[in-house]
Amino acid sequence: MERLPDFTLQRPTTLAQAVSLLAQTEGARALAGGTDLVPNRRDGIGAPPVLVDLSGIAGFAALDVDDAGVRIGAGVTIARLASHARLARSHRAIVEAAATIAGPGHRSVATVGGNLCLDTRCVYYNQSEWWRRSNGYCLKHRGDVCHVAPTGERCHAAFMGDLAPALLVFGASVEIAGPNGTREARLDQLYRDDGRAHLALEPAEILAAVRLPAPQAGARSGYRKARPRGAIDFPLAGVAVRYAGDARRIDALDIALTGTNSQPFRVAGSAAWVGRPVDDAVLAEIGKAVQKQVAPMRTTLVAANWRRQVASVHAQRLVRELAGTAP
Ligand SMILES: Cc1cc2nc3c(=O)[nH]c(=O)nc-3n(C[C@H](O)[C@H](O)[C@H](O)COP(=O)(O)OP(=O)(O)OC[C@H]3O[C@@H](n4cnc5c(N)ncnc54)[C@H](O)[C@@H]3O)c2cc1C
Ligand code: SF4
Repeated sequence: MERLPDFTLQRPTTLAQAVSLLAQTEGARALAGGTDLVPNRRDGIGAPPVLVDLSGIAGFAALDVDDAGVRIGAGVTIARLASHARLARSHRAIVEAAATIAGPGHRSVATVGGNLCLDTRCVYYNQSEWWRRSNGYCLKHRGDVCHVAPTGERCHAAFMGDLAPALLVFGASVEIAGPNGTREARLDQLYRDDGRAHLALEPAEILAAVRLPAPQAGARSGYRKARPRGAIDFPLAGVAVRYAGDARRIDALDIALTGTNSQPFRVAGSAAWVGRPVDDAVLAEIGKAVQKQVAPMRTTLVAANWRRQVASVHAQRLVRELAGTAP
């Protein structure tokens, strides 16, 4: 790691001030817990001249849960989410995903907004400056070739945030503050399948909050991830499932993934399983759908095909567990 280069730190107290500070200086960046931005910065990735610290914004860390739904301020810490007893009952996948993010020290400052706006990752990118200089820069930062797919023209760096799939299965939407006011979008609309530009945010836009509708009565959910070190690591593949029904009949099923593509996404085609029992045929179809829709590339030290297989197996196991048919 390098010495942290100089920058100006701004500390707005309102969202409007934060947006205006981001708009004023080209390359200015939002700073939340800093657990992704600061290590990247010390690795020489990006050189924002101004960091706009979001932690002093009034109401940014508010978390409201009632019978009509949930609103999670972007400044809510991951630790708070991971220990939220009411959410653990109604939205278990979110609490389970939060509990797997980084280590306890990171979680105490890391935020929901930072997790959803996390940079994409690749073994050729998340390296020190001298490593990248010695081995050759790549398309995502300062170079003109992708070392993972040299004949292509896109970056395949993977989105590895754990919260996004857990929020996606509950139909989350996001509030985005920008120079023209606040807009609302579905969470999946925040992402693009492009490792270099995976966020559909304008430079001065800030993710202000996440909203969830009231949970479906009787639905259960969970989150599982495969990672190199069980104690602390990004997901090589992370799977969230929301399930309503029992072993004899699927009433509703949503599966979402992270860690395998440049964006988190919901598995398409789950409507075809509604009304059917959780038997070998359905599980085989689920496994096949996941394998077809994930697109892991050689962006980690672990083989891409292993990540494909493990994503599929985690999805099948989680569906069985939630349906009550696990052995
Ligand atoms: C050792 C280690 C292990 C980790 N393991 C995991 C893991 O297992 N799973 C995982 O998901 N993450 C992991 N992380 C990454 C990181 O800790 C988390 O993703 C964390 O939630 C990021 O939140 P933050 O508030 O610290 O973000 P920051 O670092 O402050 O910001 C991250 C990015 O989001 C932008 N940003 C922040 N807030 C907003 C906002 N409200 N609106 C718009 N843009 C915003 C910043 O400009 C920056 O680009 C790990 C990090 C480390 C160092
Ligand atoms: S996928 Fe290619 S362009 Fe993207 S970070 Fe990795 S090597 Fe660079």
